[in-house]
Amino acid sequence: MSIMVPSKTPALITPGQQALDSALHQLNQAAAHLGLDDGLRTMLATPRRSLTVSVPVRREDGRMDVVQGFRVQHNVSRGPAKGGIRFHPATDIHEVTALAMWMTWKCALVGIPYGGAKGGVAVDPTALTTIELERLTRRYVNEILPLIGPEKDIPAPDVGTDEQTMAWIMDTYSVNAGYSVPGVVTGKPMTLGGSLGRTGSTSRGVQIAALSALGRSPEGVTVAVQGFGKVGALAAQYLSDSGCKVVAVSDVTGALYAPGGLDVAHLRAWVAETGGVTGYPLADAMAHDDLFELDVDVLVPAALEGVITEANAPRVRARLIVEGANGPTTPEADEILAANGTTVVPDILANAGGVIVSYLEWVQNMQAFSWSSREVEVKLRDLMESAFAEVKSLSAERGLTLREAAHVIGVGRVAEAHSMRGLYP
Ligand code: GLU
Repeated sequence: MSIMVPSKTPALITPGQQALDSALHQLNQAAAHLGLDDGLRTMLATPRRSLTVSVPVRREDGRMDVVQGFRVQHNVSRGPAKGGIRFHPATDIHEVTALAMWMTWKCALVGIPYGGAKGGVAVDPTALTTIELERLTRRYVNEILPLIGPEKDIPAPDVGTDEQTMAWIMDTYSVNAGYSVPGVVTGKPMTLGGSLGRTGSTSRGVQIAALSALGRSPEGVTVAVQGFGKVGALAAQYLSDSGCKVVAVSDVTGALYAPGGLDVAHLRAWVAETGGVTGYPLADAMAHDDLFELDVDVLVPAALEGVITEANAPRVRARLIVEGANGPTTPEADEILAANGTTVVPDILANAGGVIVSYLEWVQNMQAFSWSSREVEVKLRDLMESAFAEVKSLSAERGLTLREAAHVIGVGRVAEAHSMRGLYP
C-alpha cells in the first residue's frame, strides 16, 4: 500500500484551510477587542518561519515513497517555539499553521515562556511498519534540523505520534549534535528524561477544566467523548474517576452508547486488545455523528478539527463542551452554541495540560533534575486553575464567551511582548 497522498482534484477548501480560517477569525476578533493596529495584527496573523520538506522513505519491500512534511514557527516573541508533530494523511501547511498559531495563544494564556509551533507529516502512520516509521521520523527530523533545538523550537507528540517517536527525534538530534540533548523534545519516555505525569497530562487538564466549568458536584454528570485515543480515553477515565457517568464514546472504528454509563477502564482494556471501540459487547453501537447530538451534560471533542459545525451545532444538547482537541468547533458553530447558551471551554485552555507538563519536562531537562509526580501534578493544577479563573473573570467582566476571553488574554500577552521588544532593525 502506498503511503503517498493520492493526487486527486483538491476540494475547494481543505480542512486545513478551514482550520486556518477559524484561527484567523479568532485572532481578528481578539485584535479588535484589544484595539491592535493593523501592522501588529498582520504580524500575529502570519508565521515567523514556515518550512515545507520532502521526506523520502525506503519501504521494507525496497520501494521509495516521498511524503510532505512541515514545521511552522508561528511566533517566538515570548520564548522558544513549542508544539507537537502530527502524522496524519490529511495534514497540510494550512492546518499546521493554524495549529502553530493556537500553540502561541495557548502558551501565552497559561503563562509558560514559549512561542508557538507545530509540525506535521502527511502520512498515515498505521500504514507503516515500525522500521518504516522510524526511518520516516529520522529523515523528517533531519530535514527540519536547522529549525529545532532546546532553545529554539521544541517538538512534542500530537495526533499519530507518541513516546517512541519522541525518542527517535531526541536520538536523531543528539547524534547530529554529538552529545545527548534531552531538552530538544518533550513527551519522551521516562528513561530518556521524560517527566512523570506527561502521559495523560492533556487529559488531566481536560478533567480540571471540565470540573472547574461545571462548578457543581460531578456525581452523575453525563459525558460523551468523541475520540477515544491518547487524550479522549484518559479524559473519559479521569472524568469517570471523578464521579461523572461516561455514556458515549467514539473513535475511528465506531461509536458506543451505554445510557447506564461505561466502565471506562474495562473499555480501555478492550481497545488495547482489539485496536478500537467497535464490537465492545457492553454497550450499543451508534452512528458516529449521533454522539454530538446526545442528551448529555458534557461533550468532549478529543480528536480532530472542525467536527462541530453549523450543520450539527443547532442539535447539540450538551450544556458544556470541553475541547480536548485543537479547533474542533468552527466559528459559525461557536455563534450558534453561544446563542443557545452552551458553554464552550476553548481548546487553548481546555487542552493546555499537555504543553504545561511539556514545559515542566523541559525545565527538568534543562536543570538535569527531576520532580515527583506530586510536584508535577500540583504545578499543572495550579497553572490550569489560574488560567481558567482569569478567562472566566474576563469573560464575565467584558461579556465575552470563554473562547473570546481566552484569545484576548493570549493574543494580548503576545502583542505586549512584541511591543516591549520593539522591531529590529
Ligand atoms: N500537541 C499538544 C498540543 O496541541 C502538546 C504540544 C506540546 O507539548 O508542545 O497542545
